[in-house]
Amino acid sequence: VEPSTTIDEENDNNNNNNKPIMSTVEFTAKNDEIDFGDAASTVVIQPGSESIKIGFALDDKPLIIPNCVAIPTTNNKSNLINKLQVEQPEEFINLKEHLQSTFKQRMRYYKRRIQANSYDQVSGFNSVTRGEPIPDLNENGKTSWIETPKDNTIYIGDDALRCTNKNFIHRKPFCCSNAGAIFNISDNNNYSSIEEVYGDSIRILKYSIKRLIKRRQDRKNKNGTFELYTSEQNRALMEDIDENSIFKCILIIPDAFEKTHVENMIRLLLTELKFSAVAMMQESLAACYGSGTGVSTCVVNVGASKTNIACVDDGSVVENSCVTLDYGGDDITRLFAKLLLMSNFPYENWDTNNISGWKNAELLKKQCITFQDVDVTTQIFNFIRRIPGERTEKIEFKTFDEVMVAPLALFEPKIFTFLKQNSDNVAINKNLRKQLPISRDLFTNIPNDWESLTQDNCRENKTYSDFQDNFALINNILDNILENREVDDPSNNDQKLNMIPLDKAIIQSITNAALDVDVTKLSTLYSNILIIGGTSKIPAFDFMLTDRINIWRPRLLSMNSFANFYKGLLEKIKDLETSVKNKNSTTTTNTTTVTNNGVSTPTSTTTTKNEDDDDDDDDDAQTDIVPKSKLSQDNLREQIDLMVKQELEQYMKDTEAHTSGENYLPVSVVPAPHDRDPSLILWKGATVLAQIKLIEELYITETDWDVHGSRILQHKCLFAY
Ligand code: ADP
Repeated sequence: VEPSTTIDEENDNNNNNNKPIMSTVEFTAKNDEIDFGDAASTVVIQPGSESIKIGFALDDKPLIIPNCVAIPTTNNKSNLINKLQVEQPEEFINLKEHLQSTFKQRMRYYKRRIQANSYDQVSGFNSVTRGEPIPDLNENGKTSWIETPKDNTIYIGDDALRCTNKNFIHRKPFCCSNAGAIFNISDNNNYSSIEEVYGDSIRILKYSIKRLIKRRQDRKNKNGTFELYTSEQNRALMEDIDENSIFKCILIIPDAFEKTHVENMIRLLLTELKFSAVAMMQESLAACYGSGTGVSTCVVNVGASKTNIACVDDGSVVENSCVTLDYGGDDITRLFAKLLLMSNFPYENWDTNNISGWKNAELLKKQCITFQDVDVTTQIFNFIRRIPGERTEKIEFKTFDEVMVAPLALFEPKIFTFLKQNSDNVAINKNLRKQLPISRDLFTNIPNDWESLTQDNCRENKTYSDFQDNFALINNILDNILENREVDDPSNNDQKLNMIPLDKAIIQSITNAALDVDVTKLSTLYSNILIIGGTSKIPAFDFMLTDRINIWRPRLLSMNSFANFYKGLLEKIKDLETSVKNKNSTTTTNTTTVTNNGVSTPTSTTTTKNEDDDDDDDDDAQTDIVPKSKLSQDNLREQIDLMVKQELEQYMKDTEAHTSGENYLPVSVVPAPHDRDPSLILWKGATVLAQIKLIEELYITETDWDVHGSRILQHKCLFAY
């Protein structure tokens, strides 16, 4: 049963009773009264799957509020212990062994010695080690658990994480798994309607803003006024009014956002949270602003449950480069816990679905995992295990390769699927999906969210890195850009999990971005791979990623001269098309569509044999030479294949002669600037936007929303809406 009030809501009511109605009137801003340029009254909000980052645009750092609401319950299904099993199916064991051999290869390459008995040492030690009880007094960072609900109180953020599973259910209202989502529509157990999700979202945001204002109030300057605020805002702060209309807000949204999520979030911010105006920024652009990079950049954001990759060129996110991978730091946590148990780690009944079991697993992960090969040997760690209702224990344990094998799975992520609740498809609560459907064009009813080539390639498990043969690779590239893609209706079928390895997905994103914008950008993008997100804090993440990209980048796409070769090739294809068109102009009515690459693609009504079996590119290449006289629309693709094959052979012959290191585009992975937390870069980026003139053009007010509805977004975004 849903409790009817919360502490916060009660406080709200009290406040409203004490507060004169006047303050609402006084502070409700009219459109022409809003100072769009004033960054001091702008709140920047970044919803994340683990936490919401929220702060005033002139603050140094945001508050980090866990994306969690604890609801009291007497009927908790998640009370049942669902302990981590040590036994695993054979395929899991094989994948684990493969990761271990990848680890060993790396150690060998860097000439690090591995002791033959490392595994035995670790499991031998762990099987006899026992937890040592430690008295309460000595405890550092003790958690005071909330075990029994008080008056049906709902707990929010950090407090929610102190509520035990016995009498509470934990809900996460913000984006948990699907790409492009702002709201969590993947929880199949705890949400039965989208209104509940909205309700929790509002709860967390209201609570966060209160804490934000409190933080401001605590930072009075010498004169007893609040820094950076106008007198009106100061008064509002002092009176602690529950009225956000003195504040504007910038919302950070996913790169390939779902329109219905964005629109509902704007509605909540304007009508429920009463912000005077809302503006939006895509996360990868925010990352560029936040890290101060001005050149074309590939942004890799490894978060808790998702990893997002997108390239930013000339101030905008390249649509075809966006991809969301369905794994992140949480999957590393689950795998690491499992590996520890397989090495006899002394933790009975470890349930990582339970709030304390998860906390312990996260602490262990952050303490131990690394990509720094020098740090991987048999080593001893200390850990303090805290479980509600049980004595606190200090555990001494040993690890060996678990510390690197777990994060290495980012590059061989199939193993993660064994530890996910849904191992094949993206978890979606069908009921919530129905209530918050995908966006469709008003006239054609065709889905009209952003569509990314990289996302499609990865979902189809067809990446450039998997091609061994240069001709097949270049053909695949031409297929991707020359052919009109059929867009799947995402509501028709279950979305398969996107478990493409991180390195391959980055290569795909960079290649598609450059093919889309300008192929010479390959060089800039490879030298500016920005890694952000909490998971990028793993030591030496940048080194590992650089190596992995170098290993998996197809040779053809790594060559300095590739851009020129490719441009020449496109020219020749264009010429070929023109000559075919001229030959056929008297016989066939034939339309062409010019793609943004400047290459025209035939869309004539004539269906050819080749167009039908395009999947067999390799076979097409083997066909006999067609006499010039037979050049026609029918075999245009065949002619292109033939020409490409000849050009490619010539190019490879020319380059083979001089292949030294300088001929390859250098890969450079850039971590977040030293003084900045990589999980806060996005938030920081939006605070930069809040302070420049451009932002004034981007705000949407409640009046705008009332009058124009979502159509206003087409005029108020930095990107195509
Ligand atoms: P989100 O935006 O999805 O909330 P964040 O970018 O804040 O995610 O990153 C949270 C993830 O980063 C979690 O999985 C967390 O365990 C992981 N993380 C945070 N610090 C570290 C660390 N020092 N080492 C490894 N992982 C970390």
